[in-house]
Amino acid sequence: MKKLFALSVLALVTLTGANAADFPIKDKPVTIVVPFAAGGPTDRVARDLAEAMRKPLGTTVVVENVAGAGGTIGANKVAKAPQDGHTIFLHHIGMATSPALYRKLPYNTLEDFEYLGMVNDVPMTLIGRPTLPANNYKELATWIEQNKGKINLGNAGLGAASHLCGLMFQSALKVDMTTVPYKGTAPAMNDLMGGQIDLLCDQTTNTTGQIEGKTVKAFAVTTAKRLTTPALKDLPTLQESGLKGFEVTIWHGLYAPKGTPADVTTQINKALKAALKDPEFIKKQQALGAVVVTDKRSDPAEHKKFVAAEIAKWGPVIQAAGVYAD
Ligand code: ASP
Repeated sequence: MKKLFALSVLALVTLTGANAADFPIKDKPVTIVVPFAAGGPTDRVARDLAEAMRKPLGTTVVVENVAGAGGTIGANKVAKAPQDGHTIFLHHIGMATSPALYRKLPYNTLEDFEYLGMVNDVPMTLIGRPTLPANNYKELATWIEQNKGKINLGNAGLGAASHLCGLMFQSALKVDMTTVPYKGTAPAMNDLMGGQIDLLCDQTTNTTGQIEGKTVKAFAVTTAKRLTTPALKDLPTLQESGLKGFEVTIWHGLYAPKGTPADVTTQINKALKAALKDPEFIKKQQALGAVVVTDKRSDPAEHKKFVAAEIAKWGPVIQAAGVYAD
């Protein structure tokens, strides 16, 4: 009888995933899934976060890139992953834009994940190939006007931040560009530097170094105010450049598959909060123009509320643009 009881307790624990006593499982790393290519901005945030969460979690934290379809392939994989806390997911604003962009999203953004908290806010920059014959936003606007129908704009697929930013840029200018999708903005950046594409809108966590090294041309930031990061502080905002009301800021959040036990998600959230206070992590993020979350959005419930508000905010913008995938 005793044995039967022990067995059923074991079965229950196995069925419901892990509990705090099992987490982290000895010698098993926690994997942060990144839904974009290695070497890009989301990957960069994930690798710095993995380093900062290692100590508070008490285990190795590794990054796995599951790229494609604007982040939805990685999201779907995590939605269906084991609920033991060892597979978690770092995503950005695409978490909130993909429900409007994909008619058949294979997961439910608000129902199929445990929300673990928000990580940071990241501005975006509008950048161009180094050979582009424009040296500031005004010259770029003229060049775009003169080259209508011939301009290539890279992005990381439908649902990526670069896609949203590019969509808003085209609609603000009332100019259609040929969009070139990649599995992340790391490969898009390579093609931009090589001159295969003309323009890209990407997070400062990917573009700061390139702007500093002058391997790309930088034209503007997408935030309402200019940035203070040394390499970016002289860039005008798109608003002051004449695109009234243009504002996109990207955020990153952390998620686990739905059903991951509450005591495990609490432990991960604690480790996230410790990382958000880690001076080394804060310094690395600041150098790349990102702002680490210090308010209650790092609480799971607040982050979920925030994502629901973002879905409500971006849905109509995307529907008005008439862009979607079947
Ligand atoms: N920056 C990309 C985006 O457009 C994603 C990435 O490669 O990290 O969303």
